[in-house]
Amino acid sequence: MRRPLIVGNWKMNKTIQEAIQTINDLKTLVTDIANINNIDIVICPAYTALYAVKHAIAHSRLMLGAQNIFWQENGAFTGEISTSMIKDLGCSYVIVGHSERRQYFKETDSDINKKILVSLNKNITPILCIGESLQNRVDKLTFNIIKTQLEHALANVKSNQITSVIIAYEPIWAIGTGQTATPFQAQEVHLFIRKFCEDKYGYNIADKMRIIYGGSVNSENISDLMKETDIDGGLIGGASLQAKSFTQLIKNLK
Ligand code: PEP
Repeated sequence: MRRPLIVGNWKMNKTIQEAIQTINDLKTLVTDIANINNIDIVICPAYTALYAVKHAIAHSRLMLGAQNIFWQENGAFTGEISTSMIKDLGCSYVIVGHSERRQYFKETDSDINKKILVSLNKNITPILCIGESLQNRVDKLTFNIIKTQLEHALANVKSNQITSVIIAYEPIWAIGTGQTATPFQAQEVHLFIRKFCEDKYGYNIADKMRIIYGGSVNSENISDLMKETDIDGGLIGGASLQAKSFTQLIKNLK
């Protein structure tokens, strides 16, 4: 039985004060959730709020993640932040290869692989985002795209490291559009991802891996998605910004 994981990606939103307020509201609201001890919840604020959120989540069930890192440890890389730096800020997770970073900041599969390897070496859990565009899907290229992204991102990831990688299937056409993948569409890609991992690492390892879905997940569609065998949680953008909607979504996990 894989432990459900819900990750809130706040993207470029919230001042420090707003972030603290949302965490305080969330801490109060999540205490009402019956199965809270059986779910992992990670919040990924902007870099500027990480330090404040680290303190705000103390003594709660919430964990902290960053939205990106650079693979070098230190040096002349203006504007970048290393894994040691986010670790220092209390992060135990990091989102890697989000489609917005691939699209707007031209991150390549090779950049993403370096980020995965460096996070694993520093004991930070990478949340690897992969997914196809609408045109890829129309052209029936979804599985080819997913396979290529996995092959590159997971190159040189050893079998004793892979269960520490979270894979987030995020079809680009579903992110922030309100058009979520159907449970069937999501499940068939999740199964494909698990089979890819099985071929590379063996059944026992692949069976333990957590594969989460992202793309317009909300409190209304989460429970149908979670009924699918290979969907182990969600990467949530818009619906994680308000404590109330995020709590409702977590409550509706089944
Ligand atoms: C995301 O940020 O990864 C995401 C899935 O966003 P949204 O839930 O808003 O579609």
